[in-house]
Amino acid sequence: MDDEKKCDGRGGEKTLGTLYLCATPIGNLEDMTYRAVRVLGEVPLIAAEDTRRTRQLLTHFGLSTRLVSYHEHNKAEKGPELVEWLLTGNDLACVSDAGLPGIADPGAQLAVDAIAAGVRVVPLPGANAALSALIASGLDTTRFSFIGFLPRTKEKRRACLEEIAARRETLIFYEAPHRLTETLSAILESLGNRPAVLARELTKKFEEFCRGRLSELLAIYNEMMPRGEFVIVVGGVEDASEEVSSPSVGDVVQMVHSFMNGGMAKKDAIRETAKRANLSRRAVYQAVLEQEGKV
Ligand code: SAM
Repeated sequence: MDDEKKCDGRGGEKTLGTLYLCATPIGNLEDMTYRAVRVLGEVPLIAAEDTRRTRQLLTHFGLSTRLVSYHEHNKAEKGPELVEWLLTGNDLACVSDAGLPGIADPGAQLAVDAIAAGVRVVPLPGANAALSALIASGLDTTRFSFIGFLPRTKEKRRACLEEIAARRETLIFYEAPHRLTETLSAILESLGNRPAVLARELTKKFEEFCRGRLSELLAIYNEMMPRGEFVIVVGGVEDASEEVSSPSVGDVVQMVHSFMNGGMAKKDAIRETAKRANLSRRAVYQAVLEQEGKV
């Protein structure tokens, strides 16, 4: 392939349509961009993850563009039809339910297929939960990895966490509220008691940031049912050369309780805490006894 064909700048093939990957709000409708409203009103067709939801969004902005459903379960059959639509000279916008299409949402495969067919793909930037959480987290923003949703099965989840455990950059996870505590426990178990931030209900009325060590955040949601949408932002592995202050008795006991609340037996929770906090098992056991008022 020569260099000219690798680029798809404005001088490209005029008879093909353009695929617009269009961001939509993750809560606050004011996060819709002027450009997104204009393009969604100009294109003849929008491929939407959930047509009912997108219809509501369009109505809010006074638009009535035709919609077609494009989601995880019909992308194999719909994708080629949409590429054909683009190849016959028609523009198309792709939107997901919220945020950027292609980020833990449909749209990525359509972009791949369109590019393979020589169609120009144009991103329309806007709201995104991961980056919004990161920039307000207070954790390092210079280097980060987006992990998204961890696998559901324990073995695959553990394997994924082991793979990223040595990374120094900030890690960003997505999770559904009903799996939040299970996922926090798994992250704590594999990555240790790192600084982390739970960004809840971003851009919405009850937006909230909880900052602390993973065991502290877990303790909060072991007491209270997680509600709303969450991004979990976790600090990278801490510099081994940095002086690490020893944890207090309270921190140690909290970590033991967090592991136990995550389903571990007391004995295992003590062993795991000792490993994470770099203490002897005896010291952890002593801290638990102290807290229980038994010494
Ligand atoms: N495409 C979206 C984006 O660009 O951020 C992500 C969609 S993914 C299916 C949904 C997950 O994103 C949720 O489970 C949650 O982890 C995160 N999320 C979406 N909206 C959010 C919000 N308003 N506040 C916090 N997290 C949110």
